[in-house]
Amino acid sequence: MARVFNFSAGPAMMPLPVLEEIQAELLDYKGSGMSVMEMSHRSKVYSQIIEEAEADIRDLMKIPDNYKVLFIQGGATLQFAMIPMNLCKNGVFDYIVTGAWSKKAASEAKKYGKVNVIASSEDRNYSYIPDVSDLPIDDNADYVYICENETIHGTTYKELPNTKGKILVSDQSSMFLSKPVDVSKYGIIYGGVQKNVGPAGLAIVIIREDLIREDVDPKVPTYMRYSIHAENGSMYNTPNCWAIYCCGKVFKYLKKLGGLEGMNKINEEKAAILYDFLDNSKMFKGTVDKEFRSLMNVPFVTGDADKDAAVVAATKAAGFDNLKGHRSVGGLRASIYNAMPREGVVALVDFLKKYEEENS
Ligand SMILES: *Cc1c(COP(=O)(O)O)cnc(C)c1O
Repeated sequence: MARVFNFSAGPAMMPLPVLEEIQAELLDYKGSGMSVMEMSHRSKVYSQIIEEAEADIRDLMKIPDNYKVLFIQGGATLQFAMIPMNLCKNGVFDYIVTGAWSKKAASEAKKYGKVNVIASSEDRNYSYIPDVSDLPIDDNADYVYICENETIHGTTYKELPNTKGKILVSDQSSMFLSKPVDVSKYGIIYGGVQKNVGPAGLAIVIIREDLIREDVDPKVPTYMRYSIHAENGSMYNTPNCWAIYCCGKVFKYLKKLGGLEGMNKINEEKAAILYDFLDNSKMFKGTVDKEFRSLMNVPFVTGDADKDAAVVAATKAAGFDNLKGHRSVGGLRASIYNAMPREGVVALVDFLKKYEEENS
């Protein structure tokens, strides 16, 4: 077995002990005589899997009782449409655009109402988070939307926006479960799970109960109503049973690591190793303003596209995979999610240091 250090932005690494547990249970889940892949979602044995998964994520994130946890297919992208469709009252939506993902979400929302971009960092290629302490929030805004960690541009919020009483909706896909968050400050937190938690094809939506409405536009498809998922315990139709099972394993693994406080400490240490190197390097430099650097996605460049490509090729040959930056930023990007071990980051930094010495 030769596992590489996989720096992919997503789908991304999963913790090795979790993969091993899944492997051990693959053919016969706990004496059921079948794989989780083969099981009825209505069976007793599967009910226990989904119920434990929900209980464990509630525990990890300290989710208040007046919030529902929904497991919905379609990834994070489906939420770009479900959010405006379900929260629409006045048909006015305020978006803070800080990178590719919030921009995409804003353009999807335009199909369902009037979108105000109330702040943006597009002027400097999304390399920072704008001041969000006193924004021109529309009196009629149904919600204020952010992408709390921009996966492609590598920025993250240090403070949540002052929404002046409006509902805050946050896409946490690429920071999901990476640190403690105060759920009560949000109307909706959601994330596609393939960045920080499990296999692709599932979004976890944490939504305050009063935002789950029956009186949405009658044309909203049945599957796209939060009320349907809430009333049916995420089992209106066949859910993504496999992904929910894998996520449940990761929740238990995180609890053993010391919960989100424990995970955050490890993530801060890992990111510091890489950022310290970049801050002291003459060849490489981070692309994001220091204050807003993500702990999860670290874009960096040499300043020369050919050189960048040579470094990517050299890292790949040395067993570090998926370091090519997204085309909109260029250069390199190291995604160092929860499951990336500290040794992976240390090994990468050692390699880049040596590369710099030998090539300058
Ligand atoms: C990856 C990503 C998405 C899209 O996720 P899908 O599951 O592919 O739809 C949305 N938002 C953020 C922040 C992401 O990182």
